Amino acid sequence: MTDLFRALKIEKDGDKQSLNLVEISENELMDGNTVVDITHSTLNYKDGLAMTGSSPIVRNFPMIPGIDFSGIIRSSEDSKFIKGDRVVLNGFGLSESHFGGYSERARVNSDHLLKLPDNISNKQAMEIGTAGYTAMLCVLGLEDSNIKPENGDILVTGASGGVGSVAISLLSDLGYSVIASTGRLSETDYLKGLGAQSIIDRNELSEPSRPLGKERWGGAIDSVGSQTLVNVLAQTNYGGAVSACGLAQGMDLPATVLPFILRGVSLVGIDSVMAPMEKRERAWKRLSKDLNMDKLGKMVVETTLEEIQSFAQTIIDGQVRGRVVVNIA
Ligand code: NDP
Repeated sequence: MTDLFRALKIEKDGDKQSLNLVEISENELMDGNTVVDITHSTLNYKDGLAMTGSSPIVRNFPMIPGIDFSGIIRSSEDSKFIKGDRVVLNGFGLSESHFGGYSERARVNSDHLLKLPDNISNKQAMEIGTAGYTAMLCVLGLEDSNIKPENGDILVTGASGGVGSVAISLLSDLGYSVIASTGRLSETDYLKGLGAQSIIDRNELSEPSRPLGKERWGGAIDSVGSQTLVNVLAQTNYGGAVSACGLAQGMDLPATVLPFILRGVSLVGIDSVMAPMEKRERAWKRLSKDLNMDKLGKMVVETTLEEIQSFAQTIIDGQVRGRVVVNIA
């Protein structure tokens, strides 16, 4: 009897995209040297874009969405892994050109898998997810730019979202004074619970302003891009740094060079998808050491393969708070 398992598939017929929960067999999976039983996946902004088709994330159809997963090795041709090892995979083309995490099983290239630290469970790995791992890469970007707590307040934009929530938690526990910028002032208690010192309305940052403003931030983590990132750069202290990872407001950057050439501000680009393995290992090791798992638990809602579609538009509309974990197993 064929061994079937469940997967969510995006199919395309002409211009029309549909999302269906189907049963498939292992020989329908894509090439790879390692088979993983997926236990958890998660919802990231990019998953919302892929499922709704509102941005061309998916390059080949049909596609299984889900840009990340955690799971247990079922079999591997790579001697680095044995059956039962707990692993995580973020990015590396999942849901773009290779079947992703919204499936009970995956076949992937073992070079893309990372063994989970002992103190991070499979569920916690996806509570963190690509958003949380990216938040850690952003923190490392600031540290590598020599931004220390004594350099002043650190601004986090898109604060109630996945990257923002984890970034606030990490930074505050590392001793930074964190200011959260949000469009949802109703989330003030939530953001302060994660460690934000104070909250500003994102409208303060979203409109065109002067090329250089009053210096307010020792550094920043920005998941919003566009005019917001321009204003953040214009308000960053002399010698400060901004880790930029997202485009929730837009992908444009209508800036001037003044913050760079008059204040020596650094713009640190953050990519999680193709980040080299050493960087990933560094980020996951730091997450295992520095992320407060109690705070993480407060950011999370849990869903299933059947229900995940209902969150797709919600995250595009900027209405998801914190992290959404998909319990696959
Ligand atoms: P979320 O949707 O969870 O968070 C984004 C947050 O941005 C929202 O919660 C909202 O926060 C804010 N926001 C939404 N729309 C707007 C707008 N029009 N103007 C200003 N702020 C807005 O997404 P994630 O945290 O998963 O991802 C954040 C961004 O980072 C996305 O653009 C994503 O593509 C990118 N990303 C990039 C990665 C990389 O490798 N470079 C990896 C992971 C994510 P609030 O309501 O608090 O204002």
